Amino acid sequence: MKSLNEINRVTLGTFPTPIQKLENISRLLGTNVWVKRDDLTGIGLGGNKVRKLEFLMAEAREQGAEIVFTTGQAQSNHAMLTAACARKMGMEPILILKKRGVMGRKGNLLLEALMNTDVRFMDTDSYDDIYAEMDRVGKESGKKYYKIPCGGSNGLGALGYIDCVKEIADSGLHFDYIVCPEGSGGTHVGIALGAKMFLPDTTVIGAMVDDCSFEEITPEIMREACRILEADVTVKDEDVLHVKAWGEGYAIPSEEGNNAIKVMAENEGLFLDPVYTGKAFGALLRLAKEGKFKPTDNVLFVYTGGAGGLFAIDTQ
Ligand SMILES: *Cc1c(COP(=O)(O)O)cnc(C)c1O
Repeated sequence: MKSLNEINRVTLGTFPTPIQKLENISRLLGTNVWVKRDDLTGIGLGGNKVRKLEFLMAEAREQGAEIVFTTGQAQSNHAMLTAACARKMGMEPILILKKRGVMGRKGNLLLEALMNTDVRFMDTDSYDDIYAEMDRVGKESGKKYYKIPCGGSNGLGALGYIDCVKEIADSGLHFDYIVCPEGSGGTHVGIALGAKMFLPDTTVIGAMVDDCSFEEITPEIMREACRILEADVTVKDEDVLHVKAWGEGYAIPSEEGNNAIKVMAENEGLFLDPVYTGKAFGALLRLAKEGKFKPTDNVLFVYTGGAGGLFAIDTQ
């Protein structure tokens, strides 16, 4: 098996991110709750996509790309961070976004405008249409281009979260559970693989913020990540745990999520977002209420960023 250090990578963020205990929320819930501050990854407004982009952008550079394409919904944090990383590396970002979600010049679309990003919208529900459009635009430009999938969630991107687990293991702290939001799947896959390698006694739970078939998506990303690492790691289906957290649907604020945003803000002075971290932390609060965690347990919430969404999507 290859070590992560053998995989080509660029430095875009600031790592390791801090691990902090949420003292007030721990008291409130009667268990020990911690956060991995991946909102502080050091570029843009921070967030989980930076870890994936360190690997993806390295491949883009290796291939000599001048243009980097990616996609997502209108307020995609991933698209904004891809633009930020491309700018930092002197590449041209082109975002072809789904014409879905909050379209005004606020939140991540405002940040993209500040970076003078070429943002286009396509009225489609199919990412395949968008990837085809990337090829059309890329070929027409006559430049070398690199396509990053929605959420940066392929095997290469997921390696970033194996590295996150290595940081957690290196902290010397013991965690019974790791809870992370799950949108396009790469974060959960990386953490599940990393836990298998470095923290075999830790249970990983992905809080699904989108109603899609993760039981098909995650094994696919996992196989690809293992192929890149030439790793013979098998994570059994029963080890990949998912809980529902999407409410009425992706990027539609939910009562449980909105409440979690308030609980975190009022007790800890941290700001979760309505699309991912609010809903995922809402699921953590629900599990605590249902008695999932013992008083002596240590539960680590991976706080994956997303602040841009808080300024675009109404949570009231
Ligand atoms: C994309 C995103 C996630 C979900 O990560 P995936 O790897 O897509 O599952 C969680 N939180 C935030 C803030 C994100 O932008």
